[in-house]
Amino acid sequence: MNLKDLVRTIPDYPKKGIMFRDITTLMQHPAGFRRTVDEMVYPFAGSSITAIAGIEARGFILGGAVAHQLSIGFVAVRKKGKLPWQTISVEYELEYGTDEVEIHIDSVEAGDQILIVDDLIATGGTAAATTQLVRDAGGEVVGASFIVDLPELGGRARLEEMGVPVRTLMSFEGE
Ligand code: AMP
Repeated sequence: MNLKDLVRTIPDYPKKGIMFRDITTLMQHPAGFRRTVDEMVYPFAGSSITAIAGIEARGFILGGAVAHQLSIGFVAVRKKGKLPWQTISVEYELEYGTDEVEIHIDSVEAGDQILIVDDLIATGGTAAATTQLVRDAGGEVVGASFIVDLPELGGRARLEEMGVPVRTLMSFEGE
């Protein structure tokens, strides 16, 4: 089984020129989903991770499965305005404008060892902001795990420059 064959590519979605890498087809595949979760955690098996930080929304599905696998907790990283309790937030640049990610103020504590999980890393803006959030809260980022890497957009290099080890299961050339 080749996991890459289970990812569907949709050209020109959500706008012209974007190749959307749709991982729902991979998650629908029982053995494919199982192996994806196993492989996302594999390099971190020996580290003492205390919680997963999953990025809205596909990172919730994957991060929840990873957290269950490791018998640890799950921290929801959400877009601005969605969390009901007090939050801390970090703003980051988009192609046009800015966005903001948030966590609950009491979801990460000093000394926590966090693994960040999302489906795909492109420019790395979302994951870099999440790294900053965890560090602002006093936690340590043990690594970041994604199914898909788009290396031309430089996200992996950006995270590695921040001192975050990056795990990806496959890469696609182009955007
Ligand atoms: P970035 O912050 O640029 O690394 O973007 C990562 C986020 O955008 C992830 O949560 C992805 O789900 C989404 N994303 C960016 N580019 C794509 C793409 N080509 N196909 C699917 N999702 C994408």
